[in-house]
Amino acid sequence: MRCRRREGSRSAPTLAHPVRLGGAAVRAVAVTVSMAGLVACGGGNGGPADASSPSHRATLPSATATLSSSASSTHGPASDVRKLLAARSKALMRADRPGFVGAIDKSATALLADQRTFYDNVRGASLASWTYTIDPKSAHRHDTKGAESWDYVVYTTYTFAGLPGQRAVVSHQVQVAERTNGWRITAITPKDTHTEPWDLGRTLSVRSGRVVVVGVDRSREELAKIRDQAAAAIPRVDDVWRGDWARGVVVVVPPDTSGAGELTGTENIASLAAVATGGSAVDASGAMQRWERVVVNPTAWQKMDSTGREVVLAHELTHVATGSLGAVPIWVSEGMADYVGWKDSGLSTRRIAQELGAEVRRGDLPDDLPVEADFRGEWVDQAYEAAWLAARYIAFRYGEDKLLAVYRGMADQPSTSKADQDRVLRSTLKVSRSAFLHGWRSYLQARLH
Ligand SMILES: [Zn+2]
Repeated sequence: MRCRRREGSRSAPTLAHPVRLGGAAVRAVAVTVSMAGLVACGGGNGGPADASSPSHRATLPSATATLSSSASSTHGPASDVRKLLAARSKALMRADRPGFVGAIDKSATALLADQRTFYDNVRGASLASWTYTIDPKSAHRHDTKGAESWDYVVYTTYTFAGLPGQRAVVSHQVQVAERTNGWRITAITPKDTHTEPWDLGRTLSVRSGRVVVVGVDRSREELAKIRDQAAAAIPRVDDVWRGDWARGVVVVVPPDTSGAGELTGTENIASLAAVATGGSAVDASGAMQRWERVVVNPTAWQKMDSTGREVVLAHELTHVATGSLGAVPIWVSEGMADYVGWKDSGLSTRRIAQELGAEVRRGDLPDDLPVEADFRGEWVDQAYEAAWLAARYIAFRYGEDKLLAVYRGMADQPSTSKADQDRVLRSTLKVSRSAFLHGWRSYLQARLH
């Protein structure tokens, strides 16, 4: 299951001038949520599927585990399987390759080969923890000839070094069979379409404090550069956001554009330089876990200059910082991210908002704030620029604190409807939504003419 959270995609032609410092080249901004298994979508910014808070839709694993008619009333060899998996995760963390693959049944040759590759791929990823938890209630017995065999839903929870609060959860269906030497794994099937960095190849990572950059087929030098740029973006986000967040990030740099597409579930990744993605899932204990990361599209990234990369990282890290909040209208999320990204860039408004500026100078002012569809279509450049200038207008006219208040107020609403936007604008800025639109349009006129 996969659902999209913040949408915002660049149209392909923007790559024709990728180092232009108009917003076009550097606003790379989709955020997806990849859900592990039995999970709720949401917690993001906009999109019809995101209206409710994830906590309201969390489903306990045991409540949705499928039990076929042949399921036993017992939990099968759950405690043996638990021990088998505990030994396996310990082996992974202490770099014991034979120990890790030792849990696999020797007759499952394809799975054995697959797990050896998995081990080699994941070892370079700067993991701090890797834990398997089985859902005993998901036990399903197979009536196979000869050996007894059971299926379980197994949750893998892992963290990267430096970021203990970012607990990612993925789930698999794991089949075990009894052998003379004990229970062994005979099949592992993902329960979701989630792609992890190690699914793409052998990982290499560089880390500094709370910034971890995990690359696949990338040079250490390139990863170190991105790590330093991401670290430099953190205080830029803090300068504006001042909220509670990890103050760190996992940046994934895949081998190529298609790898970035797989990691993010973003179809038109070719026109994106980087994408903030996140996920949330209920783990085996029933607790909702959330995690955020930034995926770099290496092809587009290489075409950008250092200022563009700084803007992109500050933009994406703003999405990471705000990722745990509820859904907000897309003009608020992208406006805030661009506000942070462009703040102190030293570039003029007219240069950053080239496309919208050209329209305004032709007398063509937008009637309303941009919505999801605008961030996907022909008007995408103007949509980002309009959102950015809405955030700037709030900061300019009412103060930066009010920009934060608007974001938080919107995130607390039950929906992103215009009625809910109106309520927030009235309570934070003391203006109706239509009065706000009027002020914003005048601001566009004044700044872009
Ligand atoms: Zn964005």
